[in-house]
Amino acid sequence: MFLSAYNPPPSRAERRTTMPFDPAEALADVRHEFGEHGGVNMSIEASTTFTVMDPEVMPEIFGGRLGPETGGCYLYGRHFNPTVYTLGKELAAIEATEFGYGTASGLSAIAATILQLCAPGGRIVSARTIYGGSFALMHDYLPQRTGHHTTFVDITDLDEVERALEPGASVLYCETMSNPTLAVADIPKLAELAHAKGATLVVDNTFTPMIITPARLGADVVVHSLTKFVSGASDIIAGAICASAEFIQSLMDLHHGSLMMLGPTMDPRIAFDLSLRLPHLGLRVQEHSRRAMLFAQRLQDRGLDVVYPGLPGHPSHGTLKRIMNPGYGFGGLLGLDLGSTERANDLMRTLQNDERFGYLAVSLGYFDTLMSCSAASTSSELPEDDQRAAGISPGLVRMSIGLTGAVEQRWTQLDDALNRLKI
Ligand code: PLP
Repeated sequence: MFLSAYNPPPSRAERRTTMPFDPAEALADVRHEFGEHGGVNMSIEASTTFTVMDPEVMPEIFGGRLGPETGGCYLYGRHFNPTVYTLGKELAAIEATEFGYGTASGLSAIAATILQLCAPGGRIVSARTIYGGSFALMHDYLPQRTGHHTTFVDITDLDEVERALEPGASVLYCETMSNPTLAVADIPKLAELAHAKGATLVVDNTFTPMIITPARLGADVVVHSLTKFVSGASDIIAGAICASAEFIQSLMDLHHGSLMMLGPTMDPRIAFDLSLRLPHLGLRVQEHSRRAMLFAQRLQDRGLDVVYPGLPGHPSHGTLKRIMNPGYGFGGLLGLDLGSTERANDLMRTLQNDERFGYLAVSLGYFDTLMSCSAASTSSELPEDDQRAAGISPGLVRMSIGLTGAVEQRWTQLDDALNRLKI
């Protein structure tokens, strides 16, 4: 095997029974990389090509028989790079998978994974409520360009999922917490259904790093947009695929690997930058969650229509409590349904331009609050009928609650805006 697994692969049964899991603890166990001169941070390996000391080794590497940790060495930057490799090792620890590897964006991680898993004519079953770009990939791009067709389902309706998997779907795809309705996928049950039908369960864990570890619950491949909470500063576009060493190696196959052939490679400078943000990812997620929970409660107390899975009334509250890792809260995203686009726009305009509460911008996981009306932005790729079926109403404002400023200062800004607009 070209790649040696750096996390001993626990069996599926073990993964499910050895709760609770703390991703921060797992990360601390693998962060031992010194810099070239003994620096506390690893060095950046910026070279795109690597010296092979023995010419006999070259065909072994090209043949996939020898790798950097199995008697060979690094070869070429689009294949493996030591800095990206180290980030992959850290992400794999957090996600409890054998291996992980960085990509140029979240969407390239998703596209490469699906293409790798779906043979020609392969069928996908996907949650309907997902990031608009992922929806468009499966709804529009793939059917036209590759002939892969997708059946979209309500991922919380297990009977519908089971029916859709028949006959012979290759992939079951969902987000751990859906964008933007924050419905939580029952990953253990979905894994059972997928595996019974021979499908691979792919889970996008972008909304819930640290909070949920899908691979421990039965997911086969975990994808991420690192652009969000992992970056935390809205300054980097990046993604990752966490899975078995065998799957990552297949993505790098010189003839049939989607990462190798399509080439959405992560730059080692980006990998270095992201690696330094992982040690405080857990603390940041805790603070995003703490503030989101507080604001959700107070908004609900005002009588507003709040969507937050930490509130007992949210339909996914019970599922989330059953599958979450302890200590990281219920997530930093909350929805506020204002009933109409006009009211939603008024609130976002006031919060940004008058109160300085946050920014009217797409994306999430930033240290400041970001707000957008999903129907008109990151879910606009969904046709109106699908938006309605997904529960994305025109007045739904998605907020990614930031962690800057004092909590009461931020609450006062939000409260003042609501009062001013008589909401
Ligand atoms: N997955 C989710 C849940 C997202 O919200 C997004 C982007 O918003 C993506 C994937 C795509 O990530 P990227 O923009 O890094 O390609």
